[in-house]
Amino acid sequence: TRRTAAELGREFVLQVTGRVIERESKNPKLPTGEIEIAADALVILNRSDVPPFTIEEESDGGDDLRMKYRYLDLRRPPLQRALILRHRMAHAVRTFLDGEGFLEIETPYLIKSTPEGARDFVVPSRMNPNQFYALPQSPQTLKQLLMVAGYDKYFQIVRCFRDEDLRADRQPEFTQIDCEMSFVEQEDVLEVFERWAKHMFREVLDIDFAEPFRRMPWIEAMEKYGSDKPDLRFGMEFHDVTGRVKGHGFGVFDDAEYVCGFAAAGCAGYTRKQIDALTEFVKRPQVGAKGLIWIRVEADAVKSSVDKFYTPDEVRAVAEACGAAAGDMVFLMSGPKFRTLTQLCALRLEVAQQLGLRDPKRFAPLWVVDFPMFEWDDETQRFYAMHHPFTSPKPEDVPYLESDPGRVRANAYDFVCNGTEIGGGSIRIHDPKLQAAIFSCLGFTPEKAQEQFGFLMNAFKYGAPPHGGLAFGFDRLCSLFGGSESIRDYIAFPKNNAGRDVMLDAPSAIDPAQLDELYLDLHTTAK
Ligand code: ASP
Repeated sequence: TRRTAAELGREFVLQVTGRVIERESKNPKLPTGEIEIAADALVILNRSDVPPFTIEEESDGGDDLRMKYRYLDLRRPPLQRALILRHRMAHAVRTFLDGEGFLEIETPYLIKSTPEGARDFVVPSRMNPNQFYALPQSPQTLKQLLMVAGYDKYFQIVRCFRDEDLRADRQPEFTQIDCEMSFVEQEDVLEVFERWAKHMFREVLDIDFAEPFRRMPWIEAMEKYGSDKPDLRFGMEFHDVTGRVKGHGFGVFDDAEYVCGFAAAGCAGYTRKQIDALTEFVKRPQVGAKGLIWIRVEADAVKSSVDKFYTPDEVRAVAEACGAAAGDMVFLMSGPKFRTLTQLCALRLEVAQQLGLRDPKRFAPLWVVDFPMFEWDDETQRFYAMHHPFTSPKPEDVPYLESDPGRVRANAYDFVCNGTEIGGGSIRIHDPKLQAAIFSCLGFTPEKAQEQFGFLMNAFKYGAPPHGGLAFGFDRLCSLFGGSESIRDYIAFPKNNAGRDVMLDAPSAIDPAQLDELYLDLHTTAK
């Protein structure tokens, strides 16, 4: 035994027979630091090469290396905890929805391409030459067909595929908790899924939300926080001061459509250097602002970067309109309305981050409601569905569908927590005529609509019930509950930022014979 023990190395797999005894020199830092085994027999079941990085709570391996050896990284306690959390959450989802009478029904992965905003992944069909399946961006139309089919409460924990450029918290394949119900209105959906969310917080994190979640119209979220997914863990609401600041000879404000600002509580002490750094921050291309105006508010004095144009009383009045009190710093930005709001949002989050207000252990959930139906795109000069083309407009706004599509609001809602969109959905259209009208608003000719969505429009001819639902991003929900920025930690085998699985080395070239079978030719150079 002693001789075998001398051979042991890191990550060896052992079989030990012996007696568990109390350790003489206890090590409280180890999980098993109070005991040891007095071994009678020791068998090495398998040896291990020296692993490429340390497999401990904190690893010394870089990202790429750990992705390549994901199966070793997964041995580390933080990742084990993450996947255990994911399992428990999936279990809690199923328990709750089963208790509410939802059926888990699987839908296919090889489907027809139906645009939902992102690009489809496509799969060539060998049996149907020159034709392609698409992988679902979500089971949206299929779950609606299940409603037509009479399965009035559906859910599925389901993989979705979107061929998008990846951002930090995106993966080309990700998991949704996808749900749909018949004979419901918005209120019914929010009621069930607010109880579901509270159930999740209680079961998984032992956190009770006694109060109803806040409901915030989209326009309020935009005007107060500059985002349709406001982080409500802290205040710093925006205030529109356009009327107050114009007409004082300060050209930047005089020429601007919109001027708004917020008060950073207790930040009057910010140094010139700190303000300069924040100015640099908003000027970065990711934020894209031209500059930043500040007002330092003290009990007996105000100082600002626009003192030349305003009297101290005027400056103080602007600061107070932004909700500032003595000891605060006000930041103002100007420009086209929504662009300015979005830029100010980036600043608000940055300031909050610096002040330590984005505590991952605190949760501020809310519903954002009353989204606009359409979003105008300057580049292509047309309207796009803000949620997706199956979302119903608010009945009172239907008269404006043709005359003023921009003002039509949708029966759509998002579940938001800590500045992240965790889920979203809508009440759907179930009337084929209205659905045709919406397709037409979105620039589909009747022929194109029929070609792409004929299966759904036809189904609606056979007594489709009113229905609606939503889907939650399961990976994101896990990372929110786990207190981590990255959804990757909660996915056993994720892709990297270039959409590659570096462990499997995928995507990769395929055999010419395979290509032949699929009737595919390759461009010799990638475009
Ligand atoms: N299918 C939608 C999505 O993936 C969610 C829904 O409307 O239920 O965002």
